[in-house]
Amino acid sequence: MRERYCKPARGMVLTPALEGTLPMSKFKSGRHFLQTPGPTNVPERVLRAMNRNPVNHRGPDFGALGIDVIAKLRGVFQTQTATIGIFPASGTGAWEAALVNTLAPGDRILISRTGQFSHLWEQMAVRLGLDVVSLETDWRRGADPAAIGQVLRDDREHKIKAVCAVHSETSTSCMTDIAAVRQAIDDAGHPALLMVDAISSLGCADYRHDTWQVDVTIAGSQKGLMVPPGLSFTAIGDKALAASRSGGSRRGYWDWEPLVASNKTGFFPYTPAVNLLFALNEALDMLTEETLPAVFARHERYAGATRLAAAAWGLDLQCQDPRAYAPGVTAIRTPDGHSADALRAIILDKFDMSLGNGLGRLDDRVFRIGHMGDLGVLSFTGTLTGVEMGLRAAGIPHKPGGVQAAMDYLAAPGD
Ligand code: PLP
Repeated sequence: MRERYCKPARGMVLTPALEGTLPMSKFKSGRHFLQTPGPTNVPERVLRAMNRNPVNHRGPDFGALGIDVIAKLRGVFQTQTATIGIFPASGTGAWEAALVNTLAPGDRILISRTGQFSHLWEQMAVRLGLDVVSLETDWRRGADPAAIGQVLRDDREHKIKAVCAVHSETSTSCMTDIAAVRQAIDDAGHPALLMVDAISSLGCADYRHDTWQVDVTIAGSQKGLMVPPGLSFTAIGDKALAASRSGGSRRGYWDWEPLVASNKTGFFPYTPAVNLLFALNEALDMLTEETLPAVFARHERYAGATRLAAAAWGLDLQCQDPRAYAPGVTAIRTPDGHSADALRAIILDKFDMSLGNGLGRLDDRVFRIGHMGDLGVLSFTGTLTGVEMGLRAAGIPHKPGGVQAAMDYLAAPGD
């Protein structure tokens, strides 16, 4: 644990040995504010649900739990029929599973490089021997469906086997319009699979696997789903399943086929992360009780309030397209010459709050406020208060009043 020091309180009588700085208690009073865009805060109910002995994952009762969570996950993915894969893995594992099940080395894919996560997915594809066509953006907006459509129309021989898109680019806080990407693929009359990373949008934004005819949707436990890190989820449509049955790459652990049986029995072909499944079951119940429309509206409200705060502070948002603002995270740029990492370090040290850092080319240029998952209005305004105090403590040029702007918005009559 970090060694921490504090100044003696005013009026405190010090013995000569205590002159100067005092070692500070390693215990910090109050709750740490975990406001990263994943992992997110885990609700008490979920913590209690997982705080028990594991059970025999091949015992008579386990299948019911498996079937239950798979059915509830279908609800969050908004799919009736997709096969649901749950791997004990982070989201990156599900990325790999999607690629190796549907594509073979040499197959071509199209990906829009909208930020660090699409860039990493692309790099993984290259390492797996895929032929990647990437559409570069300035990392300040979502993918351009028209550009995707053009590449697909130019691909007369249908060499492109899959279009990959990141719904919510957590590194930039920009969304890609997946319905528009679907439309672009259909308008081009192209048979490519549509594979979507919904890792930081599932449970935060209205995500429609069936309506948008997505072939593969990938998600993780540690964001909108309010569960600790360690589980990845994949919704697999019939077309993607057929592609995996007729081809793909060599694979073992990541093979989707056993998932089909698993969806029927609720048992897994390996030792599942039993306690994380207890947690997931509880978290999915909480989302159902709040109702998905209310969950999405809550995320939109916090995102809107965060943007009002940023505007009042006079700071730029990383996302420049108002149609693409993400509901679960907001990346804010520090003025030129001012380190976003130093700001985050001061906020952590003085106010005990963790914020997301700038990733890849945004390293030290942005700080990211996570407002996804389990977050009440007072914890949320507390988060903005920590940021405003941090801006002042770090000497970052800004105007006061961001928290006030957010409070005015959140307390407005009728809301
Ligand atoms: N994709 C997105 C959009 C993400 O936000 C993340 C992680 O934050 C990942 C992929 C990688 O997921 P994981 O870190 O769970 O492997």
